Amino acid sequence: MELSPLCTEGISTDGCVVKSVRGHRKSKVPRDLEIDIEFLYKAVPQLAKVFRIIDKIGEGTFSSVYLGEAQMRDGRREMFALKHLIPTSHPTRIAAELQCLTVAGGRENVMGVTYCFRKEDHVVIVMPYMEHQAIVDIIGSLSFEEVRLYIYHLLKALRHIHQFGIIHRDIKPNNFLYNRSSKMYALVDFGLAQGTEETQIELLKDLTGLRKVPRPVFGERNLNSCTPAPSTTKQVAAKTELVKPSKTEDPATRRYSSASRSLLPVRAQSSSQKPQRTVQQSLTCNCYLTDRVCNVCMSRKQQVAPRAGTPGFRAPEVLTKCPNQGTAIDVWSAGVILLSLLSGRYPFFKASDDLIALTQIMTIRGSRETIQAAKAFGKAVVCSRELPRQDLRTLCETLRGRRPSPDDEVPPFPEASKDSTVTHRHKDNTPTHCPSERTSKQHINGAGQTLPNHQEHSESSETTRYVKQSSVTSRKVEEDERGWDKVPDEAYDLLDQLLDLNPATRITAAQALQHPLFTDL
Ligand code: ADP
Ligand code: MG
Ligand code: ZN
Repeated sequence: MELSPLCTEGISTDGCVVKSVRGHRKSKVPRDLEIDIEFLYKAVPQLAKVFRIIDKIGEGTFSSVYLGEAQMRDGRREMFALKHLIPTSHPTRIAAELQCLTVAGGRENVMGVTYCFRKEDHVVIVMPYMEHQAIVDIIGSLSFEEVRLYIYHLLKALRHIHQFGIIHRDIKPNNFLYNRSSKMYALVDFGLAQGTEETQIELLKDLTGLRKVPRPVFGERNLNSCTPAPSTTKQVAAKTELVKPSKTEDPATRRYSSASRSLLPVRAQSSSQKPQRTVQQSLTCNCYLTDRVCNVCMSRKQQVAPRAGTPGFRAPEVLTKCPNQGTAIDVWSAGVILLSLLSGRYPFFKASDDLIALTQIMTIRGSRETIQAAKAFGKAVVCSRELPRQDLRTLCETLRGRRPSPDDEVPPFPEASKDSTVTHRHKDNTPTHCPSERTSKQHINGAGQTLPNHQEHSESSETTRYVKQSSVTSRKVEEDERGWDKVPDEAYDLLDQLLDLNPATRITAAQALQHPLFTDL
């Protein structure tokens, strides 16, 4: 790109950060934002020579994203997104994020990168700015055709990055920018990405290496094997492997531990810093495959497996900490997004932890099916009550308010989810329990939110009922205009294949693009 200096003075002494920009009025910015922008200019002074930083457009745990304007050599002004990574990020992690963008980005609905600034441990990734809408704001007004195109373009981005052996690991609408009017799409945020065995992104290999080298740790005996499923506990014991805790990097937090040791979980810290007394652990116990957790199991060290991402979008193999995770985990997340868009509920699964997320998945996909799939990838899941698999069309249409629910109550997370207890066991027999009361409906947004027709029950007067009734009818008319009366079976068939509980049989992004739902595209 060709940039010419815009703001030569940079930060002025009066704290105004956007002062001497040629031809620009001084923006009125709130104090906090002003402080943040000032901080960024101070941390990376080179930025001031090129950009007028206008606003903050994203704030996460690992970065802050700003909108910056630059004047190009030909006189045009262009907008850029400036992603300032938290200084505690692991250097390899930062470099890997950048490499994903440079190698795979800039085409096939994957965001490209323009430039990168660094001063000491402050890194700013400069990308073309793409105006976009938040799904949560537009989900209620999307047409079926818009949803179909959205998923098609997301799958295209996934096929592309998967070809490079990149597993994104954090596929969700916030990371897939969508400009509704210009029909533009861009996958962003490779901050949690990992490489497959044969990844073409060299730095992802380094990350994988960092993560995979097993190192003996005092007081730990973790079994960390995955496939094929063992039939006896003896086989489980035979697969014993020692796994170090996340000493160098915690993939779930992206933090660099040497720079932020205090941020690491106490357990990982103590085991990596000083030898602990060895705790005697037997590999089997009598609570195996029951819904109890015995004391032996309570004292076991947790299995270490990548678990990054957002609970509601995590695949079953991620939730159960299967160590062999591939590109299929991104496909699952795309399935959750499609489920959300077809049902008009965002977020669909709203879980505060992995076992609640797993219970919610079972409520939709069936507990028997989940248990069977988990067995296929070497995990034992116990659910105290059978949850039947739901028909996806019925589920989505009910949530859209197009069908009355069986008991005229919010349906998809039925009674069963209220008092069923889920136990998930790793192969090392480390169980974790899902407390039943926490799986109740209010945690599950796909159904936890009140449906429009559901609200009627609280009102008793005839007029109110009439008004509500007609508003429900007019809502249905509007929905029909947006194509929700003729959602083809193919949409639910694709959804079913994206949400295949077993990663080994789950459809790939490349296959999904060949699905009959997209024949005309
Ligand atoms: P984080 O790792 O903190 O989640 P992201 O890369 O996902 O950072 O960026 C956070 C948010 O910033 C995005 O959800 C999006 O709203 C905005 N953003 C990121 N990149 C761009 C871009 N190139 N153009 C416009 N907005 C962007
Ligand atoms: Mg993000
Ligand atoms: Zn036990």
